Amino acid sequence: MRTEHADVAIIGAGIVGIACAYHLALSRRASRIVLIDPLPPMSLTSAASGENYRNWWPHRVMTSFTDLSIDLMERIARDSGNRLHMTRRGYALATRQARPDTLLRQLHEGYGADAAGKIRIHDKGSKGSYRPALSADWETAPDGVDVIQDRDLIAAHFPGFDPEVATILHIRRAGDISGQQMGSYMLETVRARGGKLMRGKVVEVALTGASALGVEGESGRATVAADVVVNAAGPHVGDVAALVGQSLPVETVFQQKIAFEDSLKAINRHQPFSIDLDGQEIDWSPEEKALLAEDSATGWLTRTMPGAIHCRPEGGDHGTWVKLGWAFNTTPSKVSDNLPYDPSFPEIVLRGASRLNPGLEAYYGRLPSRLSHYGGYYTMTRENWPLIGPMGPAGWFVAGALSGFGTMAACATGSLIAGWVCGDRLPGFASSLSLERYRDGRLMKALLESESAGVL
Ligand SMILES: Cc1cc2nc3c(=O)[nH]c(=O)nc-3n(C[C@H](O)[C@H](O)[C@H](O)COP(=O)(O)OP(=O)(O)OC[C@H]3O[C@@H](n4cnc5c(N)ncnc54)[C@H](O)[C@@H]3O)c2cc1C
Repeated sequence: MRTEHADVAIIGAGIVGIACAYHLALSRRASRIVLIDPLPPMSLTSAASGENYRNWWPHRVMTSFTDLSIDLMERIARDSGNRLHMTRRGYALATRQARPDTLLRQLHEGYGADAAGKIRIHDKGSKGSYRPALSADWETAPDGVDVIQDRDLIAAHFPGFDPEVATILHIRRAGDISGQQMGSYMLETVRARGGKLMRGKVVEVALTGASALGVEGESGRATVAADVVVNAAGPHVGDVAALVGQSLPVETVFQQKIAFEDSLKAINRHQPFSIDLDGQEIDWSPEEKALLAEDSATGWLTRTMPGAIHCRPEGGDHGTWVKLGWAFNTTPSKVSDNLPYDPSFPEIVLRGASRLNPGLEAYYGRLPSRLSHYGGYYTMTRENWPLIGPMGPAGWFVAGALSGFGTMAACATGSLIAGWVCGDRLPGFASSLSLERYRDGRLMKALLESESAGVL
């Protein structure tokens, strides 16, 4: 049986594993890096990402963490001539509440001591100081957040929105990237610095000094002997931890999205990524509603649904597609290779998104045939914070539970893992994102009691 020796073995070549390899390669303190995965790189959860990023979170730790990640993505954008297609039109979080006190409080909590300089209120009569997102250029976009509470300003700059919207939080350090391009760029750098990709699944681990990973691939069984192992196995992060007798506090929740060609031009191409924060009853006709209500399997679709429905133009100013998403599923399920798609999801998310974007009603019952329905698992802790840091046996680290924010947070995750592995000085928030936080009863209590875990 073949044995390969590595300084660092990374289990999983999704965006998170690749970002860990990239930052370790940049550190020049691990020359033999092996990424192990039975699948092609970036082809599991990372292929299902909406590829959006934002620095809005209801807690300072997560804001600082994603700010770090955006800094690192900007560095790649600069170094690569923006190969990752980073745009920045922001996130427009919309609500019909005229006084969304909880949201505003969370905004202040998220930006912490910087809040006063970052939050700009635009209420009646303050026209002129709001800068709409006319350009997608990330380098000229403003920072902070515009809280728009002037209905005329909303109507002028978001003409396609439901006229009942009373407040928009326009988060400005936010937009989208091509996660696939970012992954390819980082992987090329890893390879240029001597790193390797090995096709196979880690099925067994022997802990005898260095870790010996039993890897099953198409050409048989091999062993990778590594001083350091990073568990970046995405939805399988718990299974890999179990190979070394560890239990991680994670669960997996299936989420879906659709993308289709907006041939009726229902969505303005300059519209930022928009999120309807309000709960709603889906807009079914009385006949549809009666039919759904009488079946116990579909009755839930006639009751109040949660908010956070996404809509964004896809493919840039000259593109023609739109993406819709709604992470309303909160029931964990076991990871399956046959993803449990709900064939009615496209119509459900269309109806939900039409509340904020009434132009989409034109597609009721007639979504285009050129439609992509895709999905994957959010791997999450209950508090929706990731797990990044040491994990159990000496030399083992975890980079997981990246939920619905792993594309935007991959770079910061990789740099934190490189810091943990190399013993470097870490940012102050690093231990709160590691398993160490479970020893901080006060923090955990506050997180579990918090009104929002930042799931969008
Ligand atoms: C519908 C949806 C929309 C999303 N939208 C966004 C978004 O807009 N913005 C954002 O930032 N994030 C988003 N996310 C989240 C983001 O996609 C994930 O957090 C991220 O892709 C996780 O990356 P990963 O590398 O941890 O996991 P994965 O991409 O799943 O990679 C894990 C890899 O580990 C491998 N592996 C598992 N077990 C083993 C083993 N035993 N041996 C070897 N290899 C193994 C797997 O084969 C896989 O390739 C979204 C997710 C979903 C599902």
